[in-house]
Amino acid sequence: MNKLLLSLLLTSLSLHSLAQTNARDSVMINKIFDEALVNGKGYQWLEMLTKNIGARLSGSPGADRAVAWCDSLCRSIVPDGVTLQPVTVPYWVRGAKEEVMLLEKGQQPVTLAACALGGSVATPAEGLLAPVVMVHSFEELEKLGEANIKGKIVFYTYEMDQRFINTFGAYADAVGYRWRGPSEAARFGAVASITRSIAINVDDFPHTGSMRYIDSLPKIPCAAISTKAAELLEQRLKENKQFKINMKLNCQTLADKPSHNVIAEIKGNEFPDQIIVIGGHLDAWDNGEGAHDDGAGIMHTVEVLRLFKAIGYQPKRTIRVVSFMNEENGLRGGKAYAQLSEKLEEKHIAAIESDEGGFTPIGFGIDANSSQFNKIKTWQPLLEKFGLWHFTEGGGGADISPLKPQGVPLMNLAVDSQRYFEYHHTANDTFDKVHKRELHLGTAAMAAMVYLISEYGL
Ligand SMILES: [Zn+2]
Repeated sequence: MNKLLLSLLLTSLSLHSLAQTNARDSVMINKIFDEALVNGKGYQWLEMLTKNIGARLSGSPGADRAVAWCDSLCRSIVPDGVTLQPVTVPYWVRGAKEEVMLLEKGQQPVTLAACALGGSVATPAEGLLAPVVMVHSFEELEKLGEANIKGKIVFYTYEMDQRFINTFGAYADAVGYRWRGPSEAARFGAVASITRSIAINVDDFPHTGSMRYIDSLPKIPCAAISTKAAELLEQRLKENKQFKINMKLNCQTLADKPSHNVIAEIKGNEFPDQIIVIGGHLDAWDNGEGAHDDGAGIMHTVEVLRLFKAIGYQPKRTIRVVSFMNEENGLRGGKAYAQLSEKLEEKHIAAIESDEGGFTPIGFGIDANSSQFNKIKTWQPLLEKFGLWHFTEGGGGADISPLKPQGVPLMNLAVDSQRYFEYHHTANDTFDKVHKRELHLGTAAMAAMVYLISEYGL
């Protein structure tokens, strides 16, 4: 046989086997989506987590109940594959409902819908009364300086930028005012700070979230007010009205508490030492039910195990689902998981997080080297008919980020982000905001990606 003929034959053989592989994969991925859409359980599990447990900030009784519930759910799917990994978590409590009142001479007091930022110190028990200075940026804060800020409450009124199509970009752009705004204000002598909620819409639900004090600066109380309250406050300041704000926060940080990551896995039958880890976070802010953030992520990942069992798929590589604890205010679960994995010298071939809500999936963000990225891209044609078109460089998630120094490729399930920042970290993040079909599509998308990595590695 001449060389040309041989190479033609080999090419046609390998094309043939590629076609067969694709046909088999296509059948499996169809089965995954059919099972998720017809018999999906994530929605009913989410109802249990949000309605029977609800708020579950780290250290709280709700978080303990969430761990116990998730443990028993995982055991019902993989009876011998579940472990609880101990994690010591911070325990911050809001205390009695906070009050932020606008007090103007000769006028009725106006209550501004507010919530303390996670980690804030309390005000004095009787409250804190001070005039307000409005700033639109850190540059403006610096320009005003101590002369204009000392003794006042700094009001950050930075709006989420509507021009971002992916609203996570707008979140990243705005979150600094929440995260480091209080300490930056304290640097110039402010007595407290108020932040416009990081919300894409205007309503009366304040958004909480973590902040971080700079140790060398005084710790001042800090709260977010709703976008509607922020617009009202802005208006009063523009009109040059003479008023003060009375702020009463009752929060405190208690001693750290023991908690757990819930880990459930199916061992691979060909490459058990190669681990594909997927997960979301089990903790959620204390003011809502944590339905989108991140109850949906727990469902997207725990149910992958059920789907594989239901369609009779035995993975080649180990599939491990971690329901992480303490993403919201410390990341202790993600850090503890990465530390243990390093100590045990485990080989993670991929880590995928779902923490963008339970909306319609669109694809995956991918933080990997170019050969891994290109390999994932070759699977795109198999997934496009399920509405998965977004395969972009850059991705991951907070809980899996501590695995990055180990060289693990990180990914995130990307979903339609338009509505997420209406609910995120608010009392409005409730079960009724999650759509059953959208949630189950997300689970199927996650399972399809995990299936492909399990079959072909990365
Ligand atoms: Zn989250």
